[in-house]
Amino acid sequence: MSNRLRIALISHDGKKPEMVAFVLQNRFILENAQLYATGTTGSHIERAGISVVKMLSGPRGGDAQIAAMVATGQIDLVFFFRDPLEKHPHEPDVQMLMRLCDVHNIPLATNPACALLLLKGLKN
Ligand code: PGA
Repeated sequence: MSNRLRIALISHDGKKPEMVAFVLQNRFILENAQLYATGTTGSHIERAGISVVKMLSGPRGGDAQIAAMVATGQIDLVFFFRDPLEKHPHEPDVQMLMRLCDVHNIPLATNPACALLLLKGLKN
């Protein structure tokens, strides 16, 4: 069994450019991890040349799939770049994911600044 870090990447539509930029800027660390993403975020990351396992699109259950992986010990770290200026039809799934990260003590970064600090912490 692989002991690579398992990282989930999710971004709301308004934050997808920031997610792609973040992944590219940190590709040398992230390429050593097993990356999972919600569907549309994953497509953007793939187009930037980074391999990722894609789940369903967020509004169609992708956040819920990642939440289930958090609950069953299959994810070590979650980067979820949320857009606080927009409404999201799947807000209940978003809340569930964040709650389960807290239940299972899984690090969750909801913006690039926090995600960068987490990655720096991993390097040290
Ligand atoms: P998406 O889902 O990557 O499929 O857009 C993200 C979300 O909005 O939860």
